[in-house]
Amino acid sequence: MDGFVVKADFLPRLLQQLQENYQVVGPVRGEDDVCRLQPLDEWSEHQEFSLPRISVKKYLFPPNELLYTTKNGTFEPPPPPEQMAVVGVPSCDLYAVDFLDRVFADDPLYQRRRSNLLLVGITCHPSEDCFCPPRDTPPPFDLFLDEERVFSGTPRGDELLQQLGDRLIGEVEIDHDWTCEAQGPPLPENLERRWAANETKSFWEEIGGRCLGCGACSAVCPTCHCFDMQDRIDAAGNAVRHRIWDNCFFPNFALVAGGHDFHPTRGARFRFRCEHKLLGFGVFRGESSCVGCGRCRAACPVQIDILEALDHLREGAIP
Ligand code: SF4
Ligand code: SF4
Repeated sequence: MDGFVVKADFLPRLLQQLQENYQVVGPVRGEDDVCRLQPLDEWSEHQEFSLPRISVKKYLFPPNELLYTTKNGTFEPPPPPEQMAVVGVPSCDLYAVDFLDRVFADDPLYQRRRSNLLLVGITCHPSEDCFCPPRDTPPPFDLFLDEERVFSGTPRGDELLQQLGDRLIGEVEIDHDWTCEAQGPPLPENLERRWAANETKSFWEEIGGRCLGCGACSAVCPTCHCFDMQDRIDAAGNAVRHRIWDNCFFPNFALVAGGHDFHPTRGARFRFRCEHKLLGFGVFRGESSCVGCGRCRAACPVQIDILEALDHLREGAIP
């Protein structure tokens, strides 16, 4: 990894350079005061780098993605994704991409999108909702902007810095602190044992009694990745299959043939979400996929907070 001090106009020049080969997007605040990732057609001195409501995940694992079309008995894959560059990705969302890269390691459509996506990270300005865990290794990025310095993390990033060589002043040590200023409390030790000993039905059902089941917390999460399949016949009579985001708060999420529902109440669904986020499932058991972005806390209309669950486990006794 290389690092350089940059001249004041590095960012607008980077944008120009990227626009030659990529569709460039970045955070833009709308008139409704919501920050979203939107095309950045030109540089604005007032460009802000707030946390967008939906993360860069939407370009890697879109909410509704065509998987294939069948025509005359043959399967046609979707057209290749365009080359995109996302500028201003905060560290928490870069760590979320690292997690998704591993979840979708064997998924060719995800990998095709991933190799066409260039990531420009930026030192984030924490909000009152975020609580990033401590970090000692860098997340994945092509370039990372740290105030007046830039770091390159891939050969693609190196190439961009070569193209922008006249905007670099001098090489610097990579001494960035990857732990965000909004560092939250680390996960309690022995989390698996605490979970087994303290997660009582009454605790989850009390929270479930407040939950509206809207699914906003899961929809905004940069690491939630459950999906469903939808098949339909298009206007030309071809069968098409889509992958669409699913949500563990939807009533039919855990409903199976025969009518059994593995998570019949909102309390059971909140419990499932917390287990998935904090303890992980399958090969990821023991690894939290919560990057501490705080989006779920901000999005919940009734102020249900994943930290409530964490505090409950932290304060509980372990045998
Ligand atoms: S669980 Fe909440 S705080 Fe954690 S990564 Fe998901 S949205 Fe962010
Ligand atoms: S955002 Fe809040 S109310 Fe909506 S499903 Fe999540 S916990 Fe329930």
